[in-house]
Amino acid sequence: MSSSNQDLPVVGHWIDGKPDSGTADRFGDVFDPATGAVQRQVALANEADVDRAVLAARAAFPAWGGASLAKRHAVMFAFRELLFARADELAAIVTSEHGKTLDDARGEVQRGLEVVEFACGIAHLMKGEASEQISTRVDSASYRQPLGVVAGITPFNFPTMVPMWMFPIALACGNSFILKPSDRDPSASLLLAELLSEAGLPDGVFSVVQGDKDAVNALLVHPEIDAISFVGSTPIARHIYETATAHGKRVQALGGAKNHALVLPDANIEVAADAIASAAFGSAGQRCMAISAAVSVGEETAAALSAAIAERARALTVGPGNVAGTEMGPVITPQARERVASYIEAAAADGADVVVDGRELTVAGAEEGFFIGPSVIDSVTTEMSVYRDEVFGPLLVMLKADSFDSGLDLINANPYGNGAAIFTADGGAAREFRSRVQAGMVGVNVPIPVPMAYFSFGGWKDSLFGDLHVHGREGVLFYTRGKVVTERWPQRAQGVDYGFPTQS
Ligand code: NAD
Repeated sequence: MSSSNQDLPVVGHWIDGKPDSGTADRFGDVFDPATGAVQRQVALANEADVDRAVLAARAAFPAWGGASLAKRHAVMFAFRELLFARADELAAIVTSEHGKTLDDARGEVQRGLEVVEFACGIAHLMKGEASEQISTRVDSASYRQPLGVVAGITPFNFPTMVPMWMFPIALACGNSFILKPSDRDPSASLLLAELLSEAGLPDGVFSVVQGDKDAVNALLVHPEIDAISFVGSTPIARHIYETATAHGKRVQALGGAKNHALVLPDANIEVAADAIASAAFGSAGQRCMAISAAVSVGEETAAALSAAIAERARALTVGPGNVAGTEMGPVITPQARERVASYIEAAAADGADVVVDGRELTVAGAEEGFFIGPSVIDSVTTEMSVYRDEVFGPLLVMLKADSFDSGLDLINANPYGNGAAIFTADGGAAREFRSRVQAGMVGVNVPIPVPMAYFSFGGWKDSLFGDLHVHGREGVLFYTRGKVVTERWPQRAQGVDYGFPTQS
């Protein structure tokens, strides 16, 4: 955090249908992680900025919430077209502030676009049910109605996809939405806001407030906000859930992860190694569905897998995300790089075997960038900090189990429960894993089992606080509330009945 640097462009807010520079005098630095340079500053909203966005959202809600389904899905269809046309531009913004490769950035825009396409079907998704003649001449019908003003607080690692897990469905359901993106890569949110406006979304229905914990804390207690969707680390997810529910809001707060892959002796080791290396090191390990722990059953499997993954890690091309041929970019900040390095050091001190050490990497011509190479750490045990904590970098820990059951027990004892995967050729073992593993998203020979937009995304245990996952059917439930209407239209007066209503 710093005061304004006059020479740098400032990323501001989007409030009431237009850019807004805010009233605060605090600014954050936005890096280009590939060069290490501060390229922009971001305005950090204060309580008054948040209040302005909330009041605009509240004022816009009655008309938007009451707009026809046809109008709401027409806006979503138009937004989908604009997003499709501007996907490369959006991806380039993501790469410049996040550091991931352009391919990866295009991939996240694509996954977000799929949620927009899902939201285009809102007329169908919000349908209720009806029963005729629940009692003589009495009919009942259920409806889903929007909540009002909802907010989304999102992490740095998917600056377009994670917001799009939330707002397309929230808006299509008829809510106003306020996005508080990560202050590390804030620019993509403004292009999304512009495109929504161009698609015909009325002013005030979608706003962006840039900021840090001050903006978040103002949202959590604001009396005019009905619900909060959060995605980020577990300690903050817990804080969001506890504070916002104490202020009467509906909350879904998705937290951090330690996703395991269980590799059985009958697995094809080359196939498993390809899949696990990609899931561990893609996007520099900064994915909530990254595999960060591989558990091999049996010494032979462990030795073969470790060698195969180490070979892939050594061959990986690390460099700036916008350079063709780069397979892995930098991490987000110098602190993130130091954090990963400190876990490698701790693992070595704890007696683990650092097979590939990411600290040894330098990227020629980009020495100031936040690069750290992929690391493979073998002979890890569950007490070591490198296993216990979410490192959130390109670092894979390898553990051993002597049987399917002990491997599964190890995974289930971990406090996180976002994703888990099994690699095997045995359908029976896969079926048992699928049924017994305590995680919200499970892959069978699939390393990153991120559900499609029409399913719901979310973890178990410390990876999710709240009841409903994001997007899919559960997303529609989260952003709406149910109403059941019971109607009687008697043909003629029938006299007073003082009994409790029952079927007749
Ligand atoms: P983070 O928790 O630091 O930040 C997330 C959001 O919370 C940001 O908007 C940030 O400004 C805000 N925030 C940060 N500190 C705060 C505080 N003290 N009080 C109030 N608000 C605060 O997370 P991050 O570093 O941006 O993202 C990485 C984390 O997100 C990882 O833990 C990753 O596993 C997690 N993540 C989870 C999922 C999932 O689906 N479960 C998806 C993506 C990322």
